[in-house]
Amino acid sequence: MIAVAKARQYLEELKLTQAAEVVESRLEAAAQKELPYAEFLVDLLGIEARARRERYLTTRTRLAHLPFRKTLEDFDFTFQPSIDERQVWELGTLAFVGDAANVVLLGPPGVGKTHLAVALGLRAIEHGYGVYFARAHDLVEDLRRAQAEHRLDRRLRVYLAPKVLIVDEFGVWPCGREGATALFALVSARYERGSIILTSNKGFAEWGEVLGDEVVATAILDRLLHHSHILNVRGESYRLREKRRAGLFGRAPGRSPQPVTEDAREER
Ligand code: ADP
Ligand code: MG
Repeated sequence: MIAVAKARQYLEELKLTQAAEVVESRLEAAAQKELPYAEFLVDLLGIEARARRERYLTTRTRLAHLPFRKTLEDFDFTFQPSIDERQVWELGTLAFVGDAANVVLLGPPGVGKTHLAVALGLRAIEHGYGVYFARAHDLVEDLRRAQAEHRLDRRLRVYLAPKVLIVDEFGVWPCGREGATALFALVSARYERGSIILTSNKGFAEWGEVLGDEVVATAILDRLLHHSHILNVRGESYRLREKRRAGLFGRAPGRSPQPVTEDAREER
């Protein structure tokens, strides 16, 4: 068997599929350019390594269930001056994930909470961390049902496995007592073990109302906030700014535009 075919066979055997596919053409190119052996090797292995990383990132991103792909680089900090840009970039180093600390993004609809949560999630994926995104309402419903069916522990594992769990839009819907205790079980289980990035339109004082129980709310907040970074985003909705620009609102209606929950839903 000629050497090229043999090399290709070995690469396939070793599951270096991308390298196997291109080895012949890269060998030819290397011979033509009289590339040193080491450089040829770097070329070929580089192709495999990049393809593998690409595959890995695609799979991890799919598993994370992110609602969209937006990065920190896509975020216009000048539009939202209440956000401490330095703090966000610091979070972007993901030191908080190493510390199993949480990030809580508070603020009205449209100010970029989900965007920032997703952007941190994407960074975490690139760092090799497992990430899972869930809307608070879906997550609580799922856990509540699991608890009612006496399989909460098994179901919790889904939400305990990823190093970063994004809980989006907490507080938009009330939880109900059973949902609240199920959520408490989750927050306790992740406490000091894995990070939660939580977004909410409700201030902490309102959590008792959302959860239907002040005691459970205090217990959840206690664990959630013990090691946490809190970002309080104030200001205008980015979505409404775009609509206003398109003339849908006529003149600017001041700083707290009204169609609040609808706005939170529109992207889906
Ligand atoms: P929230 O979760 O606070 O309701 P989102 O993060 O969903 O808001 O933001 C609404 C939309 O506006 C998204 O498409 C998001 O990418 C965009 N957006 C919000 N704030 C900014 C910003 N400062 N720079 C760029 N895009 C932004
Ligand atoms: Mg949101």
